[in-house]
Amino acid sequence: MSSQESVDVVVVGAGFGGLYLAQKLKAEGIEFKVFEAGDGVGGTWYWNRYPGARCDIESMEYSYSFDDELQQEWEWSERYAGQAEILKYANHVADRYNLKEHIQFSTRVNSAIYDESTQTWVVTTSDNKVTRTQHCVMATGCLSSTNTPDFEGIKDFKGDTYHTGQWPHEGVDFTGKNVGIIGTGSSAIQSIPILAEQASHLTVFQRTANYSVPAHNHTLDPEYVTSIKDTYNAFRAQNRSNGFGASFEPDGVNAIESAKEVLDERYSEAWDRGGLGFLACFSDLMLDDEANKSARAFMHEKINAVVNDPAKAKLLSPNQTVGCKRLCADTGYFETYNLDHVDLVDVSEHPIEKLTESGLITDGKEYEFDAIVFATGFDAMTGALLSMDIRGKGGLTLAEKWAEGPKTFLGLGTSGFPNLFTVSGPGSPSVLTNMMVSIEQHVEWITECITYMRDKNLGAIEATPVAEENWVGHVNEVADQTLYPGCNSWYLGANVPGKPRVFMPYFGFPPYVEKCNEVAANGYEGFALSNQR
Ligand code: NAP
Repeated sequence: MSSQESVDVVVVGAGFGGLYLAQKLKAEGIEFKVFEAGDGVGGTWYWNRYPGARCDIESMEYSYSFDDELQQEWEWSERYAGQAEILKYANHVADRYNLKEHIQFSTRVNSAIYDESTQTWVVTTSDNKVTRTQHCVMATGCLSSTNTPDFEGIKDFKGDTYHTGQWPHEGVDFTGKNVGIIGTGSSAIQSIPILAEQASHLTVFQRTANYSVPAHNHTLDPEYVTSIKDTYNAFRAQNRSNGFGASFEPDGVNAIESAKEVLDERYSEAWDRGGLGFLACFSDLMLDDEANKSARAFMHEKINAVVNDPAKAKLLSPNQTVGCKRLCADTGYFETYNLDHVDLVDVSEHPIEKLTESGLITDGKEYEFDAIVFATGFDAMTGALLSMDIRGKGGLTLAEKWAEGPKTFLGLGTSGFPNLFTVSGPGSPSVLTNMMVSIEQHVEWITECITYMRDKNLGAIEATPVAEENWVGHVNEVADQTLYPGCNSWYLGANVPGKPRVFMPYFGFPPYVEKCNEVAANGYEGFALSNQR
């Protein structure tokens, strides 16, 4: 190793978590360094440049709230911002607070090894350099480690292949191409209508049909923007008090107690409004299967009304709980299946057998393509963390510690790994909320904790095994009161073969924040603090 640098904090990742950490640590005068694998900031929005990539949280909410000047000066152009605009925003933030000088781009963290004798982490990066740091904050994102199924013959295919989560920066022109796409999650549902506009033929391989509500995206009305900006802080506070940390919130009316007319009226209103607020139509939608069935029936009716071919409409109608796989928001998704050059192939019963030189085989039939798009998702929440060699006390690896699924206290720390923090880690609300809201809350909690330790000359903080065990139990108990664990979602790791089936996010933002605040107010109760050696 050629050289060794020392800082107080190493931050891994320069997405929205890493950027805000950089801003906070800088403001606190804490010495830090950010490592980022990409050659620019933005995380998710740096990598996911597939056609149609767009946020499913409204742009007036999907932005930082920590600086009123920032939220007042930035102008979003659309109700749901597209990838390019969000990336521009991330760069604006990085430039506005002069953060890029603290970020080392195009550098992966290969390993982080805890040195108990000095209470520091030894971080080795892909440029073969070593950085010693007291604290290591993993802002590596929940959906950053892509999942490409290990199809037999994947290397034999002579055409072009793309993964939606690692899209070429220069874009791809599919004009006149015969294209296959595998997957029907959010990424596929956003890209399929645009791929269909370009391709001469598009074949969609669907394993599980997904629910999607129209996004009804539109340019933002300046009067609406002004009305939000006039009371922006109150708007943000209201969102933080809602279960998903977003502007939509159920109003106490239950579907099971509602007459058919009320069900129709509320679902229709939500459908016409568009977006993920559909899940807030009724308070019991994610709690009671009978309630959820009414949403399912409504969605099926909508699909049948749009898709002309009854066989295709049936195949596109999911038979699982609405919302237990992440609900999608689309622009013209179901309509795309009315185009003559768009085919839908069900691979639920007959999985893709293998890729060949010219295409792929399922159910004994070969489909030939110029290009194949893998819209096959992510090794969510744990993938990026476990891709690094992280070793805590006694040389225990994080992979060994989490062999049966992630175990954390509050999704912020894990016992045996002192001074290692995770932003929106497993066991925190993260992906069940507006990520921006969860990121800000975590970054503020972590920065306050690091400042507290600095002011008290503390050497290490570590989740206690008891607090962690109780928290993991609580996360599962809360999840089991909902319908979320009921289908093969990435929330459970079910999309990655061999991944332990554990419900990873925590349901309910406000009680979670209350718990985090209580822990901090009680001198980091549930964490063991040690003096500097
Ligand atoms: P995803 O939801 O996990 O979807 C992956 C798709 O690939 C699923 O349809 C899955 O089928 C299919 N698949 C995986 N392995 C397969 C195999 N071996 N054979 C056939 N099909 C296979 O991934 P994603 O679409 O990238 O979305 C992930 C998450 O990112 C979303 O849920 C959302 O939270 C976020 N996201 C958000 C936006 C937005 O803001 N609008 C856009 C994109 C993504 P199964 O369902 O059967 O596993």
